[in-house]
Amino acid sequence: MMSENNKNKSVVVVGGGIMGLGTAFHLSERGYRVTLLEKQKDVAKVASYINGAMICPSMTASWASLSLLSKNKGELRRIQLSRDVVTDHKFWRWGLWFTYNCLWPGKVQQNDAAQQQLGLYSMKCLQNLEEVYGETLSHNKTASNTLRLYYTEEDLKKFFKSSQAKFWEKNGHPFVKLSPEEIKDMLPSLDQQNLETYHPSGRNLVGGVINKPAIDSSGDIHEFCQNLKKLCLKNDVTIKTDTGVKEILTEGYGKNRVISGVLCQNGKIETGDIYVLAAGIMVNPLGRTIGVNLPIYPLKGNVVTVPLKVNYNVISAMGSYVRVWGICQFIRNLWSLTSTVLIMDH
Ligand SMILES: Cc1cc2nc3c(=O)[nH]c(=O)nc-3n(C[C@H](O)[C@H](O)[C@H](O)COP(=O)(O)OP(=O)(O)OC[C@H]3O[C@@H](n4cnc5c(N)ncnc54)[C@H](O)[C@@H]3O)c2cc1C
Repeated sequence: MMSENNKNKSVVVVGGGIMGLGTAFHLSERGYRVTLLEKQKDVAKVASYINGAMICPSMTASWASLSLLSKNKGELRRIQLSRDVVTDHKFWRWGLWFTYNCLWPGKVQQNDAAQQQLGLYSMKCLQNLEEVYGETLSHNKTASNTLRLYYTEEDLKKFFKSSQAKFWEKNGHPFVKLSPEEIKDMLPSLDQQNLETYHPSGRNLVGGVINKPAIDSSGDIHEFCQNLKKLCLKNDVTIKTDTGVKEILTEGYGKNRVISGVLCQNGKIETGDIYVLAAGIMVNPLGRTIGVNLPIYPLKGNVVTVPLKVNYNVISAMGSYVRVWGICQFIRNLWSLTSTVLIMDH
């Protein structure tokens, strides 16, 4: 894939999470000379350090949808809004954009369709990476499918009429219905009573759905990123850690304004032919300085990893530990944001 045209082009990638590392790796495979700048002492220490470990293209859907929000009231209750966020005009600008996407006729369907295409494309890319790089890009793949449980016939029927079900059927991974007995056979560690009482309304289980062939899996993002880093180094990508970018420098005016370099916190200026901003939640504060303003507002998720000391009938991809997802918070003051990883032993 090495191209003579790319050979002499240099790229500066800002941010060493999964997006920055992935971009750096693919560009280096195509012959670009890549320098990756990362603010932390190592790559993949922020959102790409520990996440929910789910790779679920079959579930892709736009959150900017009233019907999805109303079905997930529990998720919404876990989102916190602090006073400094409520008084931030950028939050309200994002809120208006979100509301527009929820309400404008056809927008939800259009966004869902885009997400589904992206899910399918991502799945194919991951399969291709697994084939080409095998163990060198391992990500501790464990789970092999997602089972959705239904407690009313009406919900189950509605699901099969959804765009999600139609999309995956068209693309060769149809959802297949399972009876409560089949589910019980599939999950022998859960007895019928567990399944039936799982639903807070106390309704009986009427069935479930899975994809055949399977689409979803799980993965350890940290392992994947560390392997990406090794492949980047093998391809001579220069990775500079402890090198936060303070400012994007430009020259020229109007249509002729171009990026001339990035000023790092250590006072050095890095230059390249192409610049990639992959700084996670810091993309907007950096991008705004050159007039790039994406319609996103950062949400911080809180995850805690606890040891499984008692047998709760839980099978964990992390062996003797299990990860618990807590509340999310909209965050205004990004510059003071630090990540905390909590592993509890008691
Ligand atoms: C609690 C939680 C659970 C999640 N669960 C899942 C899941 O199950 N499945 C899934 O697919 N996704 C999940 N996600 C989302 C996924 O983890 C993120 O979308 C992904 O990690 C984002 O990667 P990124 O590279 O864009 O950002 P990051 O990993 O945050 O990387 C950005 C990097 O840029 C660096 N940086 C920032 N500013 C600068 C600067 N000025 N100069 C230089 N470097 C800078 C940061 O230090 C960081 O290393 C979850 C996220 C959270 C928070």
